[in-house]
Amino acid sequence: MTNNDHCIFCEIVKGEVPCNKVWEDEDFLAFADIYPVGEGHTLVIPKKHFVNLLDLDEENSRNYLNAIKTVAKILLGEHHADGFNLSLNNGDSAGQIVKHTHFHILPRKEGDTKRGLILG
Ligand code: 5GP
Ligand code: ZN
Repeated sequence: MTNNDHCIFCEIVKGEVPCNKVWEDEDFLAFADIYPVGEGHTLVIPKKHFVNLLDLDEENSRNYLNAIKTVAKILLGEHHADGFNLSLNNGDSAGQIVKHTHFHILPRKEGDTKRGLILG
């Protein structure tokens, strides 16, 4: 998909599909993954539709990491975690299923079930 026709994450941004929102600002939205691989599994997306990370425009590229850091801090507090895994599946061969770029954040704490990176 090269545009946002029937993009589930665009529908979430528009409020047409519900989500459990974790955080948002003008340009980014974070919400709980519908099939969490662990407690607190969260997706961080640009509100504008970009298929993958390399498609991001300059402004979104610049601001994405700050948004991820903000969400990670919220998740660490909410889930009493002291670490997190951050991953992104970029392209079909990498297991990207939803064609609207998104980082996965998984909060981690000592003694939890070891899951490591989330791969598609
Ligand atoms: P990926 O494209 O990186 O392989 O994974 C897409 C992720 O989006 C999966 O972890 C999947 O559970 C999640 N996902 C797919 N559809 C929805 C949805 O409608 N709502 C939410 N909250 N998560 C979704
Ligand atoms: Zn989209």
